[in-house]
Formats: sequence, C-alpha cells, structure tokens
Amino acid sequence: MERLNLKTVEKLAKEHGMKMTPQRRAIIMYLQSAKNHPTPEDILKVVNRRFPMASRATVYNTINWLKERGLLKEIFEGGIMRLDPNFHSHHHFICRKCGKVEDIEFEMVPDIDVTELSRIGAVENFELTFRGLCKNCQLK
Ligand SMILES: [Zn+2]
Ligand SMILES: [Zn+2]
Repeated sequence: MERLNLKTVEKLAKEHGMKMTPQRRAIIMYLQSAKNHPTPEDILKVVNRRFPMASRATVYNTINWLKERGLLKEIFEGGIMRLDPNFHSHHHFICRKCGKVEDIEFEMVPDIDVTELSRIGAVENFELTFRGLCKNCQLK
C-alpha cells in the first residue's frame, strides 16, 4: 500500500521551496501513521500536545499542500472532512453510530462490471463506502 511518508514529503518540500518546520514535520509524522482518518481538528489536538505553537492555519496549509500533490486524500462524511494518508485505491467502512472510518483493501471487494456506465463516461477507478455498525458498536 502506498502511504504518505515523511521522506517523500521532505524531498518534495526541498524541490518546491517549502520550509519544513518542526510543526509541519510533526503534522506529517502524525498523518503518516494515522489509521483513524483524522479530521483537521484531531490533527491540531495531537500535534499541539507536542508543539503548542502549531496554529490551525499551519495545519490547514500543510494539509492543502499535501492534497495538491496527491499525497493525501480527503473523505467527506456528514459534512466533515477527514484525511487519509493511504493514497492507494481502497474502500471504506463507516460506522453510523461512532463515525469510525476503516480501510477496506481494494482486493477484498469483488470486481464490478462498469460497462453500463460507459454511457456516462469512461470509468478509470472507483471507491466504495460501506455503512453500518462497527464491531464495537454492535456490542453496545
Ligand atoms: Zn462504531
Ligand atoms: Zn482510507
């Protein structure tokens, strides 16, 4: 799986003249290991535990910079933006109760016949969202 990683970002940052501040580095380090599809607010909270100086603007700037370069994906659910460091095609399971978003590997879902869709356009890829109750919420 292809994921966001600090080394790639540092190389790109150098080429594009973006300064890698300790705050930016902390944001990227958190994102690259995040499995929970965090919101920008989650990122702010975690990063500020280590660097109380990272502003909301720094978090958003860094997110946008990464998104523009295809290193970070966004998922919108219920009007809330979540970030996904896994930029390999994959599906998601979203719990309707706790809002947890889990990755589902692309290969886990049978292939879909998209020939019918050629009337609309040429499909190049697709990602699906499955909704329901997660394991935890089922037990409650
Ligand atoms: Zn749940
Ligand atoms: Zn994901």
